Order: sequence, then C-alpha cells, then structure tokens
Amino acid sequence: MQLRYNYRVYPTPAQQVALARAFGCARVVFNDGLRARQQAREAGEAYLSDGELSKRVITQAKRTPEREWLGGVSAVVLQQALADLNTAYRNFFAWLSGKRKGRKVARPRFRSRKDNRQAIRFTANARFKVLDNGRLRLPKVGDVPVRWSRQLPAAPTSVTVIRDAAGRYFASFVVATTNQPLPPVDREVGIDLGLTHFAVLSNGKKVTAPRFLRRAARKLRRLQQDLSRKQRGSNNRQKAVVKVARAHARVADSRRDWQHKLSTRIIRDNQAVYVEDLCVTGLGRTRLAKSVHDAGWAQFVNMLEYKAARHGRTFRKTNRFAPTSQTCSTCGRLDGPKPLSVRSWTCPCGAVHDRDVNAAINILAAGRAESLNACGAQVSPAPVPAPRREAGIHPDAACSTRSVEGISAV
Ligand SMILES: [Zn+2]
Repeated sequence: MQLRYNYRVYPTPAQQVALARAFGCARVVFNDGLRARQQAREAGEAYLSDGELSKRVITQAKRTPEREWLGGVSAVVLQQALADLNTAYRNFFAWLSGKRKGRKVARPRFRSRKDNRQAIRFTANARFKVLDNGRLRLPKVGDVPVRWSRQLPAAPTSVTVIRDAAGRYFASFVVATTNQPLPPVDREVGIDLGLTHFAVLSNGKKVTAPRFLRRAARKLRRLQQDLSRKQRGSNNRQKAVVKVARAHARVADSRRDWQHKLSTRIIRDNQAVYVEDLCVTGLGRTRLAKSVHDAGWAQFVNMLEYKAARHGRTFRKTNRFAPTSQTCSTCGRLDGPKPLSVRSWTCPCGAVHDRDVNAAINILAAGRAESLNACGAQVSPAPVPAPRREAGIHPDAACSTRSVEGISAV
C-alpha cells in the first residue's frame, strides 16, 4: 500500500524564496486553468480537456510576456498543479452524477496567496532526489536540508513540499510499502467515538484525551480569543495569527502522536475493529462542532483503517443510522432516543447499561453482522483507504494539521 512519510525540512533563505516562487507559479497555473474552464462554460463551449488546458495555461502561456516567468520553476510542479485541478473537477462531476457518495463536493475554487497551506508536488519525472548527504534535491530550488526522523523504507514516487500556517516546511514522500501482517489474535472490538470520552471500547475501556492535550487545546482557544479582539489589518493581528498557527500546530502534532499510539495498540490487540460510520461532517455543522473537530475523529478512523489494511486486520465502518445508543445490547430491545445527559439506563430486561459501552457493544455486533452479510460466512478484510489527492484542493486544505512529521495513509 502507499504511505506518506513526512519530514520537517529547513530551506535556506534563498531556497525559501525559490519555494515561494514555485508556490506562486503553481497557484497561478491552477487559477488560470480554473478560469479558462469557467470561461468556456460561460461561453457555452465544451469542457476543456486536460491536454488542451495544459497546452493553453502552461506551454502557450510561457511564451507570453505576462506568464513568461512560469519558466522559472520546474515544469512538473506546474503540471501537478493542473493535475490537482483536474482531480478536483472529476470529484465534483462524480458527486454531481451521484457516482461519488458522501459529503458534498464543491466546484473547484480559486487558490489564494493567503491560503494557510501552500504546497507543490514533484513526481519522479521532476528528478527530485534524496542525496547521499541527506539533503533533498529539488529542481530549481536546491539541496534542502531534511530532518530524517525515521528512514524511508523504499524509494519515494513523489514528494510534496508544504509550507504550513506556522511557517514550517515539510517534505511529504509517497512510498509504496509492503504489508506487514501481525500474528492473528482472537479478540474483536467495537469502538464508540463519543463526546464525553474520546473513544469507548466494547470491552468497557474508556479512552480520554490526555490532560496535556486538553490543556493545550484550552490555551489555543484563549489565543484565538485574543486574535478575535485584534484590529483587522493591524501588525498586532498578524503577530497573533502566527501565534495561533504555532499553537495550533503544536496541539495537532501531539494529538496525532497520541492517536498513532492508540490506533497502533488497538490494531495490534484486535483481529477486527468496528467503528460507527459517523457522518462527521454532518455533526460538524451542529453546535457540537467544536468538540467534534477537537477530537479529530476522522484522522483517528483513517489511522485505524490504513493500519488494519497494512497489518492484515479487519476494519469496518458500521451503518451510521443504526441507533446504537438506543438499543439494549443484551436483549436487542429498541428503547427510544435518550438525551446526551443520560449516561446510564436500565432496560426492562434487567440489563443496566453504560450508554457508551452499550453503544460500543452494539457497534461490535453490527460490524460482525455486516461482515458476514457482505461475503457469506467469511469475514473480509476492509478495503485499503481510497487514494487521496496529494496536494490541497480540499476545502480544509488550509488547515495546518496535515503536515506534521510521521507516517500517514495516502
Ligand atoms: Zn434489554
């Protein structure tokens, strides 16, 4: 499977200038491409093909005085920016036609120099190279120092260079890795992702986010309040923006570390892992939004998914409409909705339930049943996570949390 290995990189001031130019050129090509397609659409013309677009906004544009400077950066970076645009269009069309399920995919949007996250991608064609002295050679940028926090397991197929909102630079390598099956175990687990606890397991274990993380999150909230009081466009506001970005990056880093440890342990200890398929984006729009995003469930579920695939475990999201917190896990009676404040209840059958543990047990049962239904008597391994685009065309691509050191699914 393909995994992403992220490292912090430290470009020199001159290399930072070169990178800024490359980010800018990639953005301009992306925006030119988007504008060309929009104009064609408004004029009632056919959708511009990928090839035609590339010819117009890269090859021909370079010959004009207005866009001549595009020649100053690696051509691959420009092609990859257009590839992102093409992917964004394909995702949008797939959603329009109903081929793509899940949350709404918006029409591609213009990129801004004010986006928090700037990124460019070099593929093998660009001849980027990890040198023997440990530096990363990027065409038309230079040999950039890298902090190798772990070894790359194989030669990377591409590298994305990212500048996050806190002004840090990262290199994110895509590497094809071999799966490493773990010895089989008997246990299976259902996980309820909750608001009172980060996660509750069907074996009764409740996992709370560590104190340092909660404290850091509180500090971040305070900084955000400070920021909201600063005058728009002022120097103090700009300083506060960087402060918030740094604090946010720190919280995101420690949260991710903690989630990595937790997900690794759960995958190691269980042969099958079932999680409720929460419509996280749906919840995100309600007043629960704050806690939902703080908890970072989506990231955690993604970790479970790719680690399960990598280590030969079963992973399954169970039907999100099953009323897991209303059903008695002992007798199956549906007991009606319960407000969040109800933490435990007694079923007429006599069973006393902790709300969250009961839900986790129901998720385990639902996961087992769905696995059986899906393929006769055999429990199938979950599909490998769908490849995600590499650079940011996602609505929350501006979020700085993606670019921390470590390994993640592609
Ligand atoms: Zn009951």
